[in-house]
Amino acid sequence: AKEEGRNTYRFFDERMNVGVAELLRMRNGLRNALDHDEFELHFQPQIDLASGRVIGAEALIRWNHPELGRVSPDRFIPVAEESGLIVPIGEWVLREACRRAAAWQKEGLAGVTVAVNLSALQFKRGNLKQTVTDALAEFGLDPTCLELELTESILIKDVEEVLATVFQLKSLGLKLAIDDFGTGYSSLSYLKRFKVDKLKIDKSFVRDLASDPDDAAIIRTIIQMAHSLNLRTIAEGVEDQEMLDRLRLFHCDEIQGYLIARPMPIDDFIAFVRAHSPS
Ligand code: C2E
Ligand code: CA
Ligand code: CA
Ligand code: CA
Repeated sequence: AKEEGRNTYRFFDERMNVGVAELLRMRNGLRNALDHDEFELHFQPQIDLASGRVIGAEALIRWNHPELGRVSPDRFIPVAEESGLIVPIGEWVLREACRRAAAWQKEGLAGVTVAVNLSALQFKRGNLKQTVTDALAEFGLDPTCLELELTESILIKDVEEVLATVFQLKSLGLKLAIDDFGTGYSSLSYLKRFKVDKLKIDKSFVRDLASDPDDAAIIRTIIQMAHSLNLRTIAEGVEDQEMLDRLRLFHCDEIQGYLIARPMPIDDFIAFVRAHSPS
Protein backbone atom coordinates (compact mmCIF):
# COMPACT_ATOMS: atom_id res chain seq x y z
CA ALA A 1 0.00 0.00 0.00
CA LYS A 2 2.95 2.27 0.66
CA GLU A 3 3.76 2.75 -3.01
CA GLU A 4 0.13 3.10 -4.08
CA GLY A 5 -0.95 5.73 -1.62
CA ARG A 6 -2.38 9.00 -2.82
CA ASN A 7 -5.64 8.24 -1.09
CA THR A 8 -5.74 10.34 2.02
CA TYR A 9 -6.90 7.55 4.31
CA ARG A 10 -4.09 5.32 3.19
CA PHE A 11 -1.96 7.99 4.67
CA PHE A 12 -2.95 6.92 8.16
CA ASP A 13 -1.32 3.59 7.77
CA GLU A 14 -0.59 2.04 11.16
CA ARG A 15 2.80 0.86 9.92
CA MET A 16 3.91 4.45 9.66
CA ASN A 17 3.76 4.58 13.41
CA VAL A 18 3.32 8.33 13.87
CA GLY A 19 0.42 10.39 15.21
CA VAL A 20 -1.90 12.13 12.77
CA ALA A 21 -0.95 15.65 13.84
CA GLU A 22 2.73 14.92 13.51
CA LEU A 23 2.10 13.28 10.17
CA LEU A 24 0.39 16.37 8.79
CA ARG A 25 3.09 18.67 10.06
CA MET A 26 5.70 16.44 8.54
CA ARG A 27 3.91 16.30 5.21
CA ASN A 28 3.59 20.07 5.05
CA GLY A 29 7.13 20.50 6.24
CA LEU A 30 8.44 18.15 3.57
CA ARG A 31 6.79 20.22 0.84
CA ASN A 32 8.91 23.22 1.78
CA ALA A 33 12.04 21.42 2.87
CA LEU A 34 13.76 21.40 -0.52
CA ASP A 35 13.10 25.11 -1.12
CA HIS A 36 14.29 25.99 2.37
CA ASP A 37 17.47 23.97 2.13
CA GLU A 38 16.60 21.84 5.13
CA PHE A 39 18.08 18.60 3.82
CA GLU A 40 21.66 17.51 4.21
CA LEU A 41 23.53 14.34 3.35
CA HIS A 42 25.64 12.53 5.88
CA PHE A 43 28.18 9.94 4.82
CA GLN A 44 29.02 6.66 6.55
CA PRO A 45 32.33 5.00 5.67
CA GLN A 46 32.47 1.54 4.11
CA ILE A 47 35.63 -0.42 4.81
CA ASP A 48 37.24 -3.07 2.65
CA LEU A 49 38.25 -5.82 5.07
CA ALA A 50 41.15 -7.11 2.96
CA SER A 51 42.95 -3.76 2.73
CA GLY A 52 41.44 -1.92 5.71
CA ARG A 53 40.79 1.06 3.48
CA VAL A 54 37.73 3.27 3.19
CA ILE A 55 36.44 2.40 -0.27
CA GLY A 56 33.06 4.06 -0.16
CA ALA A 57 30.36 5.84 1.77
CA GLU A 58 26.63 5.47 2.06
CA ALA A 59 24.82 8.79 1.63
CA LEU A 60 22.08 9.13 4.25
CA ILE A 61 19.62 12.01 4.19
CA ARG A 62 19.16 14.27 7.21
CA TRP A 63 16.27 16.68 7.69
CA ASN A 64 16.66 19.69 9.95
CA HIS A 65 13.16 21.08 10.47
CA PRO A 66 12.99 24.56 12.06
CA GLU A 67 10.42 23.44 14.69
CA LEU A 68 10.47 19.64 14.70
CA GLY A 69 14.27 19.64 14.86
CA ARG A 70 16.20 16.76 13.37
CA VAL A 71 13.64 14.26 12.06
CA SER A 72 14.83 10.69 11.55
CA PRO A 73 14.61 9.30 7.99
CA ASP A 74 12.86 6.24 9.40
CA ARG A 75 10.00 8.64 10.22
CA PHE A 76 9.92 11.00 7.27
CA ILE A 77 10.93 8.76 4.35
CA PRO A 78 7.67 6.75 4.61
CA VAL A 79 5.74 10.06 4.62
CA ALA A 80 7.73 11.26 1.62
CA GLU A 81 6.96 7.99 -0.17
CA GLU A 82 3.26 8.11 0.67
CA SER A 83 2.90 11.66 -0.62
CA GLY A 84 5.06 11.22 -3.72
CA LEU A 85 7.52 13.82 -2.45
CA ILE A 86 10.20 11.15 -2.44
CA VAL A 87 10.59 11.68 -6.20
CA PRO A 88 11.91 15.28 -6.02
CA ILE A 89 13.66 14.54 -2.72
CA GLY A 90 15.29 11.46 -4.26
CA GLU A 91 16.44 13.56 -7.22
CA TRP A 92 18.01 16.04 -4.82
CA VAL A 93 19.79 13.17 -3.01
CA LEU A 94 21.20 11.78 -6.26
CA ARG A 95 22.44 15.16 -7.41
CA GLU A 96 23.91 16.12 -4.06
CA ALA A 97 25.61 12.72 -3.67
CA CYS A 98 27.18 13.02 -7.14
CA ARG A 99 28.28 16.58 -6.43
CA ARG A 100 29.95 15.58 -3.16
CA ALA A 101 31.57 12.44 -4.55
CA ALA A 102 32.94 14.34 -7.57
CA ALA A 103 34.40 16.93 -5.18
CA TRP A 104 36.10 14.35 -2.97
CA GLN A 105 37.64 12.63 -6.03
CA LYS A 106 39.30 15.98 -6.80
CA GLU A 107 40.42 16.33 -3.21
CA GLY A 108 42.45 13.16 -3.40
CA LEU A 109 39.94 10.53 -2.31
CA ALA A 110 40.28 8.82 -5.68
CA GLY A 111 37.99 5.86 -6.27
CA VAL A 112 35.96 6.29 -3.07
CA THR A 113 32.42 5.42 -4.17
CA VAL A 114 29.12 6.89 -3.01
CA ALA A 115 26.08 4.68 -2.38
CA VAL A 116 22.61 6.20 -2.77
CA ASN A 117 19.34 4.73 -1.50
CA LEU A 118 16.46 4.54 -3.97
CA SER A 119 12.74 4.22 -3.28
CA ALA A 120 10.33 2.20 -5.42
CA LEU A 121 8.44 5.30 -6.53
CA GLN A 122 11.58 6.68 -8.17
CA PHE A 123 11.34 3.78 -10.62
CA LYS A 124 7.68 4.40 -11.32
CA ARG A 125 7.56 8.15 -11.66
CA GLY A 126 10.22 10.52 -12.75
CA ASN A 127 12.84 9.57 -15.26
CA LEU A 128 15.43 7.82 -13.17
CA LYS A 129 17.83 7.11 -15.99
CA GLN A 130 17.80 10.76 -17.08
CA THR A 131 18.22 11.99 -13.51
CA VAL A 132 21.22 9.74 -12.96
CA THR A 133 22.76 10.54 -16.36
CA ASP A 134 22.37 14.29 -15.77
CA ALA A 135 23.78 14.15 -12.24
CA LEU A 136 26.86 12.20 -13.38
CA ALA A 137 27.43 14.55 -16.32
CA GLU A 138 26.85 17.78 -14.42
CA PHE A 139 29.57 17.04 -11.88
CA GLY A 140 31.78 14.87 -14.07
CA LEU A 141 31.54 11.90 -11.72
CA ASP A 142 32.86 8.61 -13.04
CA PRO A 143 29.85 6.21 -13.12
CA THR A 144 31.91 3.49 -11.46
CA CYS A 145 32.00 5.71 -8.36
CA LEU A 146 28.21 5.64 -8.01
CA GLU A 147 26.38 2.74 -6.41
CA LEU A 148 22.61 2.49 -6.14
CA GLU A 149 21.05 0.67 -3.18
CA LEU A 150 17.77 -1.07 -3.94
CA THR A 151 15.64 -3.19 -1.67
CA GLU A 152 14.35 -6.58 -2.72
CA SER A 153 10.79 -5.24 -2.67
CA ILE A 154 11.63 -2.91 -5.58
CA LEU A 155 12.94 -5.81 -7.65
CA ILE A 156 9.95 -8.11 -7.21
CA LYS A 157 7.35 -5.48 -8.11
CA ASP A 158 6.63 -4.81 -11.78
CA VAL A 159 9.65 -6.94 -12.58
CA GLU A 160 9.86 -6.32 -16.33
CA GLU A 161 9.48 -2.57 -15.97
CA VAL A 162 12.06 -2.30 -13.22
CA LEU A 163 14.37 -4.68 -15.07
CA ALA A 164 14.37 -2.40 -18.11
CA THR A 165 15.26 0.64 -16.01
CA VAL A 166 17.93 -1.23 -14.05
CA PHE A 167 19.40 -2.44 -17.32
CA GLN A 168 19.63 1.13 -18.62
CA LEU A 169 21.21 2.28 -15.36
CA LYS A 170 23.75 -0.54 -15.40
CA SER A 171 24.67 0.31 -18.97
CA LEU A 172 25.88 3.68 -17.68
CA GLY A 173 28.56 1.77 -15.78
CA LEU A 174 27.38 2.24 -12.21
CA LYS A 175 27.07 -0.41 -9.51
CA LEU A 176 24.03 -1.98 -7.95
CA ALA A 177 23.65 -3.21 -4.37
CA ILE A 178 20.71 -5.00 -2.76
CA ASP A 179 19.98 -3.34 0.57
CA ASP A 180 18.60 -5.11 3.66
CA PHE A 181 19.39 -8.43 2.00
CA GLY A 182 17.77 -11.43 3.64
CA THR A 183 14.72 -9.60 4.97
CA GLY A 184 12.63 -9.78 1.81
CA TYR A 185 11.74 -12.40 -0.70
CA SER A 186 15.02 -13.69 -2.00
CA SER A 187 15.45 -15.55 -5.20
CA LEU A 188 18.79 -16.38 -6.70
CA SER A 189 17.56 -15.92 -10.23
CA TYR A 190 16.81 -12.23 -9.90
CA LEU A 191 20.30 -11.52 -8.61
CA LYS A 192 21.64 -12.71 -11.94
CA ARG A 193 18.87 -11.16 -14.00
CA PHE A 194 19.38 -7.74 -12.45
CA LYS A 195 23.17 -7.92 -12.75
CA VAL A 196 23.58 -7.06 -9.10
CA ASP A 197 27.14 -6.29 -7.90
CA LYS A 198 26.81 -6.43 -4.14
CA LEU A 199 24.62 -7.79 -1.36
CA LYS A 200 24.19 -5.70 1.74
CA ILE A 201 23.49 -8.03 4.65
CA ASP A 202 20.76 -6.54 6.83
CA LYS A 203 21.76 -5.27 10.24
CA SER A 204 19.10 -7.40 11.96
CA PHE A 205 21.21 -10.50 11.19
CA VAL A 206 24.45 -8.77 12.09
CA ARG A 207 23.08 -7.60 15.46
CA ASP A 208 22.53 -11.17 16.72
CA LEU A 209 25.50 -12.69 14.97
CA ALA A 210 27.31 -13.56 18.19
CA SER A 211 24.30 -14.76 20.18
CA ASP A 212 22.15 -16.51 17.61
CA PRO A 213 23.61 -19.49 15.72
CA ASP A 214 20.78 -19.24 13.16
CA ASP A 215 21.71 -15.69 12.23
CA ALA A 216 25.35 -16.70 12.00
CA ALA A 217 24.39 -19.54 9.67
CA ILE A 218 22.27 -17.21 7.54
CA ILE A 219 25.11 -14.73 7.17
CA ARG A 220 27.63 -17.43 6.34
CA THR A 221 25.28 -18.86 3.72
CA ILE A 222 24.55 -15.47 2.15
CA ILE A 223 28.28 -14.77 1.82
CA GLN A 224 29.05 -18.17 0.31
CA MET A 225 26.19 -17.86 -2.12
CA ALA A 226 27.20 -14.31 -3.07
CA HIS A 227 30.77 -15.36 -3.74
CA SER A 228 29.73 -18.32 -5.85
CA LEU A 229 27.79 -15.82 -7.97
CA ASN A 230 30.76 -13.42 -8.05
CA LEU A 231 28.99 -10.80 -5.93
CA ARG A 232 30.59 -8.79 -3.19
CA THR A 233 29.12 -8.63 0.30
CA ILE A 234 28.90 -5.83 2.82
CA ALA A 235 27.59 -6.17 6.37
CA GLU A 236 25.79 -3.15 7.82
CA GLY A 237 25.24 -2.36 11.49
CA VAL A 238 28.65 -3.61 12.64
CA GLU A 239 28.85 -2.29 16.18
CA ASP A 240 31.56 -4.23 17.96
CA GLN A 241 34.80 -6.11 17.45
CA GLU A 242 33.22 -9.52 17.97
CA MET A 243 30.86 -8.95 15.04
CA LEU A 244 33.78 -7.83 12.92
CA ASP A 245 35.87 -10.89 13.84
CA ARG A 246 33.07 -13.25 12.92
CA LEU A 247 32.38 -11.48 9.64
CA ARG A 248 36.05 -11.73 8.77
CA LEU A 249 35.95 -15.44 9.51
CA PHE A 250 33.05 -15.76 7.07
CA HIS A 251 35.04 -13.84 4.40
CA CYS A 252 32.68 -10.90 4.28
CA ASP A 253 34.18 -8.33 1.88
CA GLU A 254 33.18 -5.02 3.43
CA ILE A 255 31.71 -3.60 6.61
CA GLN A 256 29.83 -0.49 7.64
CA GLY A 257 28.71 0.43 11.14
CA TYR A 258 29.18 2.38 14.35
CA LEU A 259 32.32 0.36 15.16
CA ILE A 260 34.03 2.20 12.30
CA ALA A 261 32.08 5.47 12.32
CA ARG A 262 28.63 6.99 12.47
CA PRO A 263 27.23 8.79 9.42
CA MET A 264 28.82 12.27 9.38
CA PRO A 265 28.83 15.59 7.54
CA ILE A 266 30.91 15.83 4.38
CA ASP A 267 33.92 17.66 5.86
CA ASP A 268 34.22 15.14 8.68
CA PHE A 269 33.98 12.29 6.19
CA ILE A 270 36.81 13.64 4.06
CA ALA A 271 38.95 14.15 7.16
CA PHE A 272 38.11 10.63 8.33
CA VAL A 273 39.23 9.07 5.05
CA ARG A 274 42.47 11.07 5.09
CA ALA A 275 43.20 10.00 8.66
CA HIS A 276 42.55 6.36 7.80
CA SER A 277 44.54 6.13 4.58
CA PRO A 278 47.96 4.53 4.67
CA SER A 279 50.35 7.28 3.47
P1 C2E B 1 19.28 1.90 5.53
O1 C2E B 1 19.41 2.19 4.08
O2 C2E B 1 19.21 0.47 5.91
O3 C2E B 1 20.50 2.65 6.20
C1 C2E B 1 21.23 2.16 7.29
C2 C2E B 1 20.77 2.77 8.58
O4 C2E B 1 21.47 2.15 9.66
C3 C2E B 1 21.07 4.26 8.71
O5 C2E B 1 20.03 4.86 9.47
C4 C2E B 1 22.37 4.27 9.50
O6 C2E B 1 22.61 5.48 10.19
C5 C2E B 1 22.11 3.13 10.45
N1 C2E B 1 23.34 2.54 10.98
C6 C2E B 1 24.59 2.63 10.50
N2 C2E B 1 25.47 1.93 11.25
C7 C2E B 1 24.74 1.37 12.24
C8 C2E B 1 25.09 0.54 13.36
O7 C2E B 1 26.23 0.14 13.58
N3 C2E B 1 24.06 0.15 14.17
C9 C2E B 1 22.78 0.56 13.96
N4 C2E B 1 21.84 0.15 14.80
N5 C2E B 1 22.42 1.35 12.91
C10 C2E B 1 23.39 1.75 12.08
P2 C2E B 1 19.39 6.25 9.05
O8 C2E B 1 20.43 7.15 8.49
O9 C2E B 1 18.57 6.72 10.21
O10 C2E B 1 18.44 5.85 7.84
C11 C2E B 1 17.34 5.01 8.06
C12 C2E B 1 16.72 4.57 6.76
O11 C2E B 1 16.16 5.68 6.06
C13 C2E B 1 17.72 3.95 5.79
O12 C2E B 1 17.97 2.62 6.14
C14 C2E B 1 16.97 4.09 4.48
O13 C2E B 1 16.00 3.09 4.35
C15 C2E B 1 16.26 5.42 4.68
N6 C2E B 1 17.04 6.49 4.01
C16 C2E B 1 18.06 7.24 4.48
N7 C2E B 1 18.49 8.12 3.55
C17 C2E B 1 17.74 7.90 2.45
C18 C2E B 1 17.70 8.49 1.13
O14 C2E B 1 18.48 9.38 0.75
N8 C2E B 1 16.75 7.99 0.27
C19 C2E B 1 15.88 6.99 0.62
N9 C2E B 1 14.99 6.56 -0.29
N10 C2E B 1 15.92 6.41 1.83
C20 C2E B 1 16.83 6.86 2.74
CA1 CA C 1 20.86 1.63 2.56
CA1 CA D 1 20.12 -1.35 5.01
CA1 CA E 1 16.37 -0.43 6.25
